[in-house]
Amino acid sequence: MKVLGSTKVLGVFGHPISHSLSPIIHNAAIEALSVDYIYVPFHVLPERLDDAVRGIRSLQILGVNITIPHKERVIEYLDEVDEAARAIGSVNTIINEDDRLKGFSTDGPGFLRSVEAEWGKVDGCRVLILGAGGSARAVAFALAEIGCEIVIANRTYSRAQELAESLKSTSKNVSAIPLEREAIAEAIGFADLLVNTTSVGMHPDSDAIPIPSDLIHSGLLVYDLIYNPPRTKLIQEAVARGAKAINGLKMLVYQGALSFEMWTGIKPPVDVMEHAAACALG
Ligand code: NAP
Repeated sequence: MKVLGSTKVLGVFGHPISHSLSPIIHNAAIEALSVDYIYVPFHVLPERLDDAVRGIRSLQILGVNITIPHKERVIEYLDEVDEAARAIGSVNTIINEDDRLKGFSTDGPGFLRSVEAEWGKVDGCRVLILGAGGSARAVAFALAEIGCEIVIANRTYSRAQELAESLKSTSKNVSAIPLEREAIAEAIGFADLLVNTTSVGMHPDSDAIPIPSDLIHSGLLVYDLIYNPPRTKLIQEAVARGAKAINGLKMLVYQGALSFEMWTGIKPPVDVMEHAAACALG
């Protein structure tokens, strides 16, 4: 990869940032396409977020991804926010169009694209979502828009209720349950798709599982948003019970691919991006 005077700059703002796979994924696409861009990690402290966003304009950065912990708070510094991003209250992509900063979220669409790439269309399916945090909101709104029936289970029940309530204008078939054995046992029996958006099972706590494994049935598609480790305990138990299961690497790649296309107008090679991310994870 050559960096020239003409090279256009893309990047990611986060805190911490050194663990981010986004530079690897995007620079792999840039190299494969031989285009004149570079994607840079920026360590942005929470108290300097406003300065960093102003820097997008002054440094003429073409676009950035936004990651933890800035996805919600960055909204107040933007000129415009896409309707879907406003609904979920989170922005992961900023486009700089002649100094006007527009915010979008590619998390939900990236999740849906990755599901379709793996299993085909899931429009109208019955989904049990574990978790009610930031990623659950993005996933739930995307699934509600394609007519899915949604049950949200969360450790803090009131957060599941709040998320279900905020989805009611998009979907009539949405309800909340506590993340407890009896309630999960009932909901999972009717589900086609199980999505884990909790951090349970993430490295280094990789022996943990968000639901009792004996409740998993062979008719389920199991999507664990976690990608480190690549085979979580949930994925191992699902496969052992005859269910189909994938991790969150594809979501990471597809949300990145959508951002890349928004900035450059070029469809990036998702297989190259996924391979680069998988190699980096080891
Ligand atoms: P978040 O907003 O902090 O939400 C965390 C969720 O996990 C909450 O629902 C929380 O429940 C639940 N939780 C945490 N510890 C728990 C425990 N011990 N038992 C039961 N529930 C627990 O985080 P997020 O941004 O949504 O991220 C969640 C996970 O998704 C992380 O592992 C992250 O790496 C992954 N992720 C992957 C992608 C991707 O592209 N693949 C994208 C985004 C996120 P309470 O409400 O009760 O606290």
